[in-house]
Amino acid sequence: MPHVSANLFDLIVARAGEPRQMALETSDPTALTYAALFERSARAANALVSLGVEPGDRVAAQVDKSTDVIVLALACLRAGAALLPLNTAYTLAELEYYLSDAQPALTVCRPASLAAVRTLTHRLGLAAAESLGVAHDGTFAERIAAEPPEFETVPRAADDLAAILYTSGTTGRSKGAMLTHENLSSNALTLVDFWRFGAADRLIHALPVFHTHGLFVAINVALLAGATMIYQNRFDPDAVIAAMHGATSLMGVPTFYTRLLDHPGLTREACAGMRLFISGSAPLLAETHAAWRERTGFAILERYGMTETNMITSNPYDGERRAGTVGFPLPGVSVRISEAETGAPVPAGEIGVIEVKGPNVFRGYWRMPEKTAQEFRPDGFLITGDLGRIDADGYIHIVGRAKDLVISGGFNVYPKEVEGEIDAIDGVLESAVIGLAHPDFGEGVTAVVVTRPGATVTEAAVLSALDGRLAKFKAPKRVFFVDALPRNSMGKVQKALLRETYKDTYR
Ligand code: AMP
Repeated sequence: MPHVSANLFDLIVARAGEPRQMALETSDPTALTYAALFERSARAANALVSLGVEPGDRVAAQVDKSTDVIVLALACLRAGAALLPLNTAYTLAELEYYLSDAQPALTVCRPASLAAVRTLTHRLGLAAAESLGVAHDGTFAERIAAEPPEFETVPRAADDLAAILYTSGTTGRSKGAMLTHENLSSNALTLVDFWRFGAADRLIHALPVFHTHGLFVAINVALLAGATMIYQNRFDPDAVIAAMHGATSLMGVPTFYTRLLDHPGLTREACAGMRLFISGSAPLLAETHAAWRERTGFAILERYGMTETNMITSNPYDGERRAGTVGFPLPGVSVRISEAETGAPVPAGEIGVIEVKGPNVFRGYWRMPEKTAQEFRPDGFLITGDLGRIDADGYIHIVGRAKDLVISGGFNVYPKEVEGEIDAIDGVLESAVIGLAHPDFGEGVTAVVVTRPGATVTEAAVLSALDGRLAKFKAPKRVFFVDALPRNSMGKVQKALLRETYKDTYR
């Protein structure tokens, strides 16, 4: 047992807002002050223990966004368990993979899916699922209400697991990124200072809470600053604009900013009380940066990170926020650009793969030691798979991805997975899935399909076959049919050529 606990929850308590201050402000009766948040997390931690969750166990959660998701996240920290948040769009078939791989001691799901998920947990030999709704309802919420309001937080060492976040791989299976208490606390503390968050901040939180951006960047930064979150269960431009009057800051994906720019209510007056707009998770177009500045007077601060590393770089708070760049390495984080194949340093200013090292970098992929080893250089730098360059002023530019990832509306879509599902459709010979510039989603998932001789497959048939097999955000926005996919001499599909052919699809 460590002498001084590195449990992130203890750090949150030490830096928390005044007890009566709102931690999570909502438009419904589920708002929580800091005192209420801590008390409810104690009850929830007792509920976890009553359900048999022990330190070191995993707790899977596929639930709609509500203040109770934060209660559950804090309860996991307190009980020494690792939270495994799952995208609410995942189908039952997808859920089965995560549960079999992670073997959680408890699965928490939406009230409406309780029967189906319990059938699944039973079949997999896991503990029976509990449910959690958005109005402090569900079987887990009932247990929270019945448990005592004190809980002694379990001490944790710096490299004990705090969470596992699955990131689908480019090849085959989805991988669980293991994040430690130190990974999360070091990064959040750095961001609080770097972005000047304090107790007077009121952060609009409209991001999903199953992804690193909404779960760790936004929540841990706000809680470690003792700030208040204006907590919205989904992104609604009307609600964000209305909330800006009493807010200081917003964290969003680029799609938030393009949608807000389409809203007539986005004016200088609406932003008068704001001090900071942050964007990340996908590239922010320079046009969006310029349009936002023109309309509101604010330069959006773009930062870059990934699930495995937390945040890596940020544009400066005081200095120039340069559009089309992701700024500089954060304090304590080392970044270098290398030749992808050899790992040799590239000459100054040239493009290579971005590599990163620091206390923010994860411990590895859950039960995949070989895969983990492949992602690191011998000296401990993680190979991000993103291609970038550092300009003469030190700003980092991301120019593409060595990995074949599509980011649509801030969500990662791995072409391989979508292709596998399309190829399984009757009459389909093969397919290639690409991302194309899309004014609203950043990138639109697009499928190019080759049918078997004599078969007739339509766009509508492909889309309806995928419905229920794949989360909606992974479904192609358009399906094109060709006689053959372009291939290079090594037989690899030339996706760059496809991207060029269809580049104006959504423009
Ligand atoms: P995730 O693990 O879901 O956070 O996805 C991480 C990936 O998102 C990174 O490896 C990048 O490819 C991409 N990404 C995140 N932030 C940015 C950004 N500001 N600009 C460009 N790409 C980004």
